[in-house]
Amino acid sequence: RQALYRELRDKPSVTKDGVEISLLMNAGLLVDLPQLMESGAAGIGLFRTELQFMIASTFPRAEQQERLYRSVLDAAGKRPVTFRTLDIGGDKVLPYFRHQGPEENPAMGWRAIRLTLDRPGLLRTQLRALLKAAGGNELRLMLPMITEVGEIRAARAIIEREVRHLSRFAYSLPTRLRLGAMIEVPSLLWQLDELMAAVDFVSVGSNDLFQFVMAADRGNSAISKRFDQLSPPFLRVLRQIVEAGTRHDTPVTLCGEMAGKPLTAMTLIGLGFRHISMSPAAIGPVKAMLGALDAAKLNALLLEAIGKPNGTHSLRGVLMGFAEDS
Ligand code: PEP
Ligand code: MG
Repeated sequence: RQALYRELRDKPSVTKDGVEISLLMNAGLLVDLPQLMESGAAGIGLFRTELQFMIASTFPRAEQQERLYRSVLDAAGKRPVTFRTLDIGGDKVLPYFRHQGPEENPAMGWRAIRLTLDRPGLLRTQLRALLKAAGGNELRLMLPMITEVGEIRAARAIIEREVRHLSRFAYSLPTRLRLGAMIEVPSLLWQLDELMAAVDFVSVGSNDLFQFVMAADRGNSAISKRFDQLSPPFLRVLRQIVEAGTRHDTPVTLCGEMAGKPLTAMTLIGLGFRHISMSPAAIGPVKAMLGALDAAKLNALLLEAIGKPNGTHSLRGVLMGFAEDS
């Protein structure tokens, strides 16, 4: 298997019927970077910047942040890197950061973009480090846990202020800035048109989106097997996001765990996703799956299955049948 994956590494990632798929990797620390070459990933679809903060015993200084971001961009070379701004709070607590007291539902609490908009000093320091590190290159920024479009406007205003500040001091700025939002909160599903118009790209955080759509804590083992990501309602949600992206010509990626398992990854391609981001170890197995996949045939099967009333718990069996026959 490993030998097969190594052989596939430098081959194009394309389905049996010729659909090109970009397989990106998730990362968060310096130690992840060698995987970029080893896995053959097309880039980093999700760089979790909070990891540097989580392994530290105090806030990483601006220079330390900048140094990490620069190393990531150097390692990636021409391949795109999407940096997610701090996603702390929820289950990711920093022992040295004082939260606003205990929260009964931390996953739905003061976290991610909510926290950084309330503590703009934190966000500004990070943005400045990112803007400096990406001087002369493209910078792709992604905002976590967006709930309403106004949060994107607020973050954009802070970014623009930092850009003005740096240009006043004659720093070399990114050649191009792309701003994206993560789709993790169901409220976005009823403002997809406004959302797609407000950003340069979106990425579905399916771990959180599934948790909130199903009202099922992603970390609670008592219910972890109860609902399936391959259930018709969740697949309809994902399909709606793809369609909205197509309407607005806004690129759509998915960077949750389901991108990294061959059967769920196959399903995502069938729903119309063309960019998926996963742990580096998953790239080989997913690429091997692509070579056997007739994406058009699966698309027809899936749209038919989710397009009519369907009370089944999950389409997993149907999809496994499809995979076995191809
Ligand atoms: C997600 O929610 O799917 C995601 C990619 O973000 P994280 O797992 O870091 O919450
Ligand atoms: Mg998330």
